[in-house]
Order: sequence, then C-alpha cells, then structure tokens
Amino acid sequence: MKKEKRPQRSILLGYLAVIAVLIALNMFFMPSILESQVEEVDYSTFMQMTEDKEIGSVEITSTQITFTNKDNTKIYKTGPISDPELVDRLYDSGAEFKTEIVKQMNPILYLLLTFLLPVVLFAVLGYFMNKKLRDKMGGGSSMMFGMGKSNAKVYVKSTSGIKFSDVAGEDEAKDLLREIVDFLHNPEKYREIGATLPKGALLVGPPGTGKTLLAKAVAGEANVPFFSISGSEFVEMFVGNGAAKVRDLFKQANEKAPCIVFIDEIDAIGKKRDASLSTNDEREQTLNQLLTEMDGFEGSKGVVILAATNRPESLDPALLRPGRFDRRIPVELPDLKGREEILKVHAKKIKIADNVDFGAIARAASGASGAELANIVNEAALRAVRDGRKFATQSDLEESVEVVIAGYQKKNRMLSTKEKLIVAYHETGHALVAAKQTDSAPVHKITIIPRTSGALGYTMQVEENEHFLMNKTELENKIATLTGGRAAEELIFHEITTGASNDIEQATKLARQMITKFGMSSFGMVAMETGGNTYLGGDSTLTCSAETQTEIDRMVIDLVEKEYKKASKILEENIDKLHELSKYLYEHETITGEEFMKILGE
Ligand code: ADP
Ligand code: MG
Ligand code: ZN
Repeated sequence: MKKEKRPQRSILLGYLAVIAVLIALNMFFMPSILESQVEEVDYSTFMQMTEDKEIGSVEITSTQITFTNKDNTKIYKTGPISDPELVDRLYDSGAEFKTEIVKQMNPILYLLLTFLLPVVLFAVLGYFMNKKLRDKMGGGSSMMFGMGKSNAKVYVKSTSGIKFSDVAGEDEAKDLLREIVDFLHNPEKYREIGATLPKGALLVGPPGTGKTLLAKAVAGEANVPFFSISGSEFVEMFVGNGAAKVRDLFKQANEKAPCIVFIDEIDAIGKKRDASLSTNDEREQTLNQLLTEMDGFEGSKGVVILAATNRPESLDPALLRPGRFDRRIPVELPDLKGREEILKVHAKKIKIADNVDFGAIARAASGASGAELANIVNEAALRAVRDGRKFATQSDLEESVEVVIAGYQKKNRMLSTKEKLIVAYHETGHALVAAKQTDSAPVHKITIIPRTSGALGYTMQVEENEHFLMNKTELENKIATLTGGRAAEELIFHEITTGASNDIEQATKLARQMITKFGMSSFGMVAMETGGNTYLGGDSTLTCSAETQTEIDRMVIDLVEKEYKKASKILEENIDKLHELSKYLYEHETITGEEFMKILGE
C-alpha cells in the first residue's frame, strides 16, 4: 500500500551542482570587478599626465583606457576618445602601453560554451524538477511536471492481501459491500431483473472503526481494478488543478471499467459550499468537478465510487443525494461481540495463551474502537516480550487495556500516604454510589496506581449487557455516581481536592445534555442546541435566547447539586462499607468487581 519513496538527497545534490556550475561560469565570463580602487578621471587629465610623463602603464580597450601613475601606486580610468596621435604621445612619454588581445577562442568551444552549455544546464535542471514532481505525484506521467494527473494508486485483485475475513464485526457494512463486489463480478444476474448498480457508497463512522480497512478488503475481494486516492490529494496549490485530477481519475476509471474508485477522507473536498467569507475556490471547483463526473457515467458501465469520512454532517448535500452516493454505510464502534471478534482477529497475529478469555477483555475495553483494540493486542505482545515470555497471557491483555485507555503505570510517582488515602476514598465513593443505586457490580476493577495520563486512580466500568437507550433515571444515577468521588472526600476529610475536575466536567456535560438535547427538563421537547459532530464530538452551539441560557445554567447547577446531595446521602448511610472498601483498596491498590461486591454484601 506504500508508495515508493525515492531518495530526496540526489535531487538536492543535483541542485547544488547546478548552482556551483552557474557560479563558476559567472566568474569565468565576468572577470572580477574590483573597480572600487580605480579612480575615474577625464580625458584631459589623462592627456596632461601623458605630457608630464607621469604615466606608468596603459591598457587601451575599445571601451576604456586604464592607466597607472609612474610608481604604479594608483589606477585611473577614462573613456576612450578618437585620438589618432595618442600612440605617438604615449611613446614619447615612455609609458608602457598595450591594448586588449582579442582572445580568439576555438569556435567549437565557443559554440559549446555559449549555446550548448545553457541548454544542457536547463535540461538537467528540468530533469530534476520533473523527476521530483513526478515522484510527488506518484509517477507514470509523461506530461512535463505531471500536472493535472490524478495520483490514484491502482490495485488489482488481492495485492493488499486484505479480505473481508480480516475485518471483524461490521457485518452490515460487509454485506452491502459484498453485494457491490458481486454486482461487478456477475452483472447479468442483476441486469436480468433490471437492477442498476449503485453508483456510490459512503462509509461513515468514527475514527478507527475500520472504514479504510473495509475499502482495502473490497480491493482484495473484487476481481476488478481498484483506484485508491485520499481526498486531501486533490487539493492543490493551483486553482483548477484538483478539478483536472478528478477528470483524469474518472477518465482512467472509465477506461478500466468495471472498476472501483475509493476516495478516503472525502470531507477534505466534499465540504459544504456555503456563503462564508473563507471560501476555497480550489476545493469548490474540485467538488463541482466530482459532482459532474459522478453524474456523467452510467451505472451500467460498472464504475463504483466508495468514499469514507468521519464528518458526514459537513458534506455537501449535493454529494449525498441519490444518484451520487446512493448508499450510506454506517461503520459504528463495535459492540461487545464485535470487540471480541476484533480481538480474536488481531490475536491471530501474535503468540497468545490458549486459555485467554477474550469476552472478559472485550467487556473491560468498552467503547474502544477497532484501532484501539488492535493496539491493545499489540501492547500485550510487547508486554510479554518485555517480561521475557514467549507468548502473551490474559493478564497482559488486561494490563494493556488499561495502558491504552489510561496510560502506563507510573512507577516512580509516589503518592503520599494521605493522598493515597484520599484517592482510595474518592474511587470507592464513585463505586459505592453506583452499586447502591443499581444493586449490581458497578465496576470491573478499581486501581489507585497512578497512570501516565495523569489519572491517580482509575475505575473500569462493567458493561454486562449493552443498551442503546438511557432513561432519565439512569442518567440521573450516572450524574450521582460522578459526584460520588467528591462527596466521599468531603464526607471523610471535610476538605475537597482538585482530583474531581474530570468528574465535574462529565457531570456538567451530561446534565446540560439532559436539558438542552434530550428534553428531560421543564422545557419539554424543545431543542436548545444544534451542531456538534456525531463521531468526533466537539462543541455544539446553543440556539436560544440569552434569558433561556441563564435559566439553563441555573437548571444545570440545580440538577448536579441534587445528585450530589443524593450521593452524599448514600455514602453517609453506608459509611462503614465506605471505610471498609477504601481500606481494602488502600492496602491492595486494586480491587476487582467481585471482591467489591463480596465486601459490600457481607
Ligand atoms: P478508519 O475507520 O479511521 O479508516 P482504519 O480502517 O484505518 O480506520 O482502521 C485502523 C486499524 O484498526 C486497522 O488497520 C485495523 O488494524 C484496526 N481495525 C479497525 N476496525 C477493525 C475491524 N472491524 N476488524 C479488524 N481490525 C480493525
Ligand atoms: Mg481511514
Ligand atoms: Zn473521580
């Protein structure tokens, strides 16, 4: 999948050589002009000095007369005047005099130097520039500088070696893509019934969920040419260049049909065209060209466009309408089963113990994307090597989940006894509030070993059965759980610390969302904010009057306050368990969900 990268050094050396030759030539043709010490005088002075025999030597050329004084200490020059008696006078004065010798150069050498050399130099320069540009553009261009060439990489069957079986989970996406591949292989089957091939399919989903991987798998499975290009590669310095590249890409695709064109990160060119001040002509032209090209070919020809993005809401609506990208294939974060499968796919690449419980790891890594899971497996293998083992084990995987999510253990950060105690109570506070509200194991594991991410303690949530809806009570409980850490600190130490900043942030965000987005307040079903990226997060904007905003702020404060009180009450009622659990956590630094529930149930 990698483009070959030619060494940049030879290009640099080439440039240096050319520059050196130019400098040398310059010195050769224009002899040094150190004329600063030469004094310019008028002709009459020259004549007078000649009369007075004050002249040492003279050199006469067609453009100037250079002469020195008697002791050769000063140099003068003057312009020549038609003066036939000059020679006689100079002879009389006893000065040495000469005129320039016309250097009769070998005519062939002369021709070479004046005519051929520059041509050769330019050719060399041009060659290097061309080569460099062509390297940058992916090669294969016969055009000077390769302008306007799309640099799509072409793959034929299974060059990348990735198959659908390498993509775990994402069954819906795979089914839709498999159908497209099948269409390209057996068009008659579909044509018989009158179905036309979908022109385009857009893969949308959060980063790291396997969109690019899926496209590569399509390339590996389909028996047709596969053009792959990234959206950003269209955007060029010169207006019109991107459009030319789009044209070229589709020309190639039409010639090679049936084939698949894959445009990764299409949001780079597919951004909404709007009337904002910061318009980008180049991008808009490129997008317009893309729209035109997508209309231009018939579906029956067999060119399918795949594209991937994690910012679907920023795409131009014209791009999304049926007839262009007919299909939108969601590639979401994997669920529990998906995570387990992805772990297994990647575990095949490393040596791993037979008795590993992938389900447990998948449960611990809730919310992780495919890329993160791949990373977890690799971390486990690295850990095994570090410990000098021949294969990775369950505990390697467990530790690497924490590493990927919370960073490495900080070996040398020593918490003071007091701080460690506060952290133990804080984390237990969260867990206890959660456990008492739901009557189930709230955590997979709590540790109070500092991590490189800056977390002093860390709680891994369990997620026994996933659900996609949350009701109001659950959300309120979640806010209460988030405030539980701070509540425990205050209850036990009568003092609050900075350790709760992350909890506060999350609690506030949740409370605000309940009011402005989920319609769970006295405002009813009125949306108070818009925007925000579905997959990348990011801020949304409030769309209400200033008074309402003030009211929202008030309501957020009240809601969090209410849940904080609830958490404090739960902790007060269970203060013995709080002490007991915190003591255990303080001593052992780690407590698992089962141990936690056992102590709680005693
Ligand atoms: P994106 O959706 O951002 O394009 P990629 O396709 O580049 O993500 O995925 C990055 C890496 O994550 C892949 O190379 C692969 O190792 C891993 N990965 C992501 N999703 C999956 C999956 N469903 N099955 C197997 N590996 C996956
Ligand atoms: Mg990608
Ligand atoms: Zn906390």
